[in-house]
Amino acid sequence: MKDEPALDAVVIGGGIIGCMAGRYLLAAGRTVTILERSAIAAGSSAGNAGILAFPEIVPIPSPGIIWKAPGWLLDPLGPLSIRPSYAPRLAPWFWHFWRASARVNFERGHQVQAELMRLAEAEYAMIRKDARLTSFIVNTGTLDLYDTEQSFRAAAPGWVKKREAGFDFHRVGRSEIEALQPGLAPCFEHAIYSEDGLQVSDPADFTRAVADSLMQDGATLRIGEASAIEPTEAGARIRLADGRSIAARTVIVACGAWSKRLAGSLGETVLLDTERGYNTTLPASAFPLQRQLYFNDHSFVATPLRDGIRVGGAVEFGGLDLPANFKRADMLLKLAKRFMPGLETEGGRQWMGFRPSMPDCLPVIDRSKAAPNVLYAFGHGHLGLTQSAATGRLIAELAMQNKPSINLENLRFDRFSGR
Ligand SMILES: Cc1cc2nc3c(=O)[nH]c(=O)nc-3n(C[C@H](O)[C@H](O)[C@H](O)COP(=O)(O)OP(=O)(O)OC[C@H]3O[C@@H](n4cnc5c(N)ncnc54)[C@H](O)[C@@H]3O)c2cc1C
Repeated sequence: MKDEPALDAVVIGGGIIGCMAGRYLLAAGRTVTILERSAIAAGSSAGNAGILAFPEIVPIPSPGIIWKAPGWLLDPLGPLSIRPSYAPRLAPWFWHFWRASARVNFERGHQVQAELMRLAEAEYAMIRKDARLTSFIVNTGTLDLYDTEQSFRAAAPGWVKKREAGFDFHRVGRSEIEALQPGLAPCFEHAIYSEDGLQVSDPADFTRAVADSLMQDGATLRIGEASAIEPTEAGARIRLADGRSIAARTVIVACGAWSKRLAGSLGETVLLDTERGYNTTLPASAFPLQRQLYFNDHSFVATPLRDGIRVGGAVEFGGLDLPANFKRADMLLKLAKRFMPGLETEGGRQWMGFRPSMPDCLPVIDRSKAAPNVLYAFGHGHLGLTQSAATGRLIAELAMQNKPSINLENLRFDRFSGR
C-alpha cells in the first residue's frame, strides 16, 4: 500500500503524556496528529488517583527499601505482589531497581526528580491559566497519614528534602487531623498537611479536555495501532497494524506501558515494565472525603473526584497480558475500611491500570539513536499525570532542537544498557 503524504508531527498514544506533548508541539508551531489505537485516555491516564504530586521528589528506590519487599510480599493486604508466572522476567528490572536504591544513585535520582517536579509545577501553573482546563484542576490539600510515631520518624528525612526544595506543609496532631478529615479511625496521631495540594477533578475528563483543546487548536486525532517504526531520510515511517503506514517528519512514542515494542522495532532495548495498580471508585456518598489522603504505611490513597471517591494504589508485577486480579482492589477497600470505619464499600467500580515503569522510577525523555526524528516520552510510573506538562515542554524542545529546560542525561532510554 502507498504512503499518504508525510505528516509533520505524529504523537503515538492518546494518554496524558501524548496529549501534553501534542499541546506543546502545537504551541511550537508544529502541525500535530495524535495516533491512538482505541480512544483518548484509554490507558493508565483514565483511572489514576488524579493527584498532582509535585512534592513527590524522593524516588521510590531508596536505601533499605529492598529489605522491606519480603514482608510486603508475604502480607495479603500488603502494597506489593508479583504474579508467579511473570516473576522470572523481572530479574533485570529488579537488579537495576536495587542499584537505583544505593545511596549515591538515590541522591542523584532525587536531584533529577526534584528538577523535573519544579518544571512540572511551573508548567501546570501555565496550564491552569487556560480557560478550557482551569476548572479541572482543584486545590483540596493533602493529608499524609502515619500509623505510628516510628513510621512518622522514619519518613522525616523525606520531608526535610521536600522542605529544602521549597514545598510548604506542617505537622498536625490528632485534633487537627479530625478537623481536616472527620471520620478517620482514631489511630492516627501524626500527619503532614500540605494546604497547597492540587489534584484534577477526574483524570479521564482532564485528559479528554486536554485532547479537546488540542483539536480546537488544529490538531487531528487518528485511530490506528502502530506496530513498528522505521527511519526514513525525511523523518520516520509508522507501520500500522492494518497494513497501512504513515510517514512523518517527527514521531513521538508516548504509548505508556506499551512503548517498549515500538522502541524495539527500531532495534532499541528499553528496560520498561509495568507496575499494575488497582482502585475502586465509590459513590460520593460512600464517605465524606474532604481532601487527598495518603495512607503512607499502607501505600494507598483516597481521592475525592467529580463523581465519587477513589481508593487504591498498590503495585502488582504481572506484565501487560495477564488478566486483572481484582482481589487486589477488594483488599485495598478492606484496608481503607479499617482506617475510614464509616466507608460504604458497596456499589464501586473497579479498575486496573498499567503504570509504565523504569527501574529508577524516572521517565524516558530522549531521542532515538536509530532514528533521530523519533522521540521517546514514556516510563512515568506513578507520576505521569504530574509530570505530563513538563514532559510536553521537554519533548517540544527536543523536536525544535532547542536546549532542554533541564538536563536530560539521566532520562536517556539506554541508561541501563551499561554504556
Ligand atoms: C492506580 C494508579 C494510580 C495512579 N495515580 C497517579 C496520580 O495520582 N498522579 C500521577 O501523576 N500519576 C498517577 N498514576 C500514573 C499515571 O496514571 C501514569 O504515569 C500516566 O497515566 C501515564 O500516561 P501515558 O500517557 O504515558 O500512558 P497511558 O495513559 O497508558 O496512555 C498510553 C496510550 O497509548 C495508546 N497506545 C498504546 N500502544 C499503542 C499503539 N501501538 N498505537 C497507538 N496507540 C497506542 C493506549 O491505548 C493509551 O491510550 C497512577 C497510575 C495508576 C495505575
